[in-house]
Parts: sequence; C-alpha cells; structure tokens
Amino acid sequence: MKMILNERKHAEEALAYGKMDKKPTRTLVCIAKLGLEQGQSIDEVHNVLHQFMSKYYLNYNAVHWDSFFHRVIHQAACYFKTREKAGKSRLIEIDDISITYTELLRIKELRSKRLEKLAFVLLVYSKINNRIHESNVYWVNNVWSEIYSDTGMAVSKRDQGLLVHKLIQSGLLKESKRVDSTNVQVLFAQEEDDVAIKLICFDDFILEYLRWTGERIKNCTICGKRLIAKSNRQKYCKECRNIQRS
Ligand SMILES: [Zn+2]
Repeated sequence: MKMILNERKHAEEALAYGKMDKKPTRTLVCIAKLGLEQGQSIDEVHNVLHQFMSKYYLNYNAVHWDSFFHRVIHQAACYFKTREKAGKSRLIEIDDISITYTELLRIKELRSKRLEKLAFVLLVYSKINNRIHESNVYWVNNVWSEIYSDTGMAVSKRDQGLLVHKLIQSGLLKESKRVDSTNVQVLFAQEEDDVAIKLICFDDFILEYLRWTGERIKNCTICGKRLIAKSNRQKYCKECRNIQRS
C-alpha cells in the first residue's frame, strides 16, 4: 500500500534513522506536519527539513529544494486549519484495521478469487478512509491503479471496470451518482462482530485474506514479509534468500 497510515510514526522513524518513503516528498510532508503539530515555527520546520535532507538524501541540493520546503509547510499548515475547523485530528495515525468474520464470509460467497480479492482490498480501503475522514460512510475514492496493485492481480483497464461492475451487481458496492466520479461505496462492512483479521502491516495485505481462505501463507523468518509458500521448507522471502546465498 502506498498510503502512509501513521504520519506521526513515519515522521518519527524518518527523523530517528533516515527511513524514507519511495517518494521522499511524502516523508517530508509527514515531517512538516509533525513539526507544526509540535508547535514549531515555519522557520524551525524549514530547518528540520533541511537538516533531514542534508543527512539522509544523496546529492541533496539546498537551493533546489528550498521552494519545495516552503510549499510543503504551507500546504501542511492549510491542511491543519481545515482539519481543525472540521474538529478532526491533525495527523493521520492508523495502527491497524480490523476485518470481521461476517465481512469475510460475505466476500467468500462471491466464489471468484478475482472478485474476492478486489472486495477485500476495497473493504480495507473503505475502513482506512473512514478513519482518515473520521466518518462512517465506507466510500472509496482512491486511485484504481493503486487499489488493483494491492489486489496483487494484473488486470486490464477494461476488466478493472467489469470486476467493479460485478461487485455492484452482487450488492457489495454502490457507485457514485456523480457522472464524473468513479468512487464506490462499500455496503457489506459489519463491524459489530468478532474480529477475524487484524491488519497491522499493509505490505501485500491481500495475502492475509488468502491465508484465511486456507492458502499456505508464511512470514519470512528474517524480515517478517508475507509470502506464498511453495513448499513446507520455504522459510525466507526472495530478497532474504538471495542475501543468504550471496
Ligand atoms: Zn525476508
């Protein structure tokens, strides 16, 4: 998943030991938000960003990044104002998302692995959006390429639309009434039930659904990454296995 679900943790880890998102600008946004949240002035935040980049970013050019820092800080400040006006918390801090048995059974009823995977991912996204917007409406307005990337399936543009349409027909989703919108609403969330899956790590999280359906999913004994085990002996993910061999 590309989204940063815990902005505070992300910023703290970045500042502590240089951990950075694939897109460093996302990390800078989190650091700026954390700084403002802690009451730092704009100049102070600017300096923190500058220090961070000088320490951890290869070929960092202060002149080149200066105007970008200003923009990031300005945007973060505006964002905080809107959130405050709406009475919402300023930083996004999601540690886990829970999926219940009723929800999983509803997905399994689809009896099509492709539809099941898509429904599971959409459910997770809708719950994340609820937490971000502090709402209870289960809308998904995320980019479809990102959603499909989390399903782990290669699906053509045309089939992407078809799969969504099938979920709408099955009554699991509702489409937006706005003509220009591709947003969908998840209709099968059922929080009032026992938790079956508690997602804490969101890399390859679709594998947790497959694990629940009985597929042999293991966690790499070195890095903890989820993997589809091809044999009982398999212990490591591809990356860690390569490191072991070299
Ligand atoms: Zn590993």
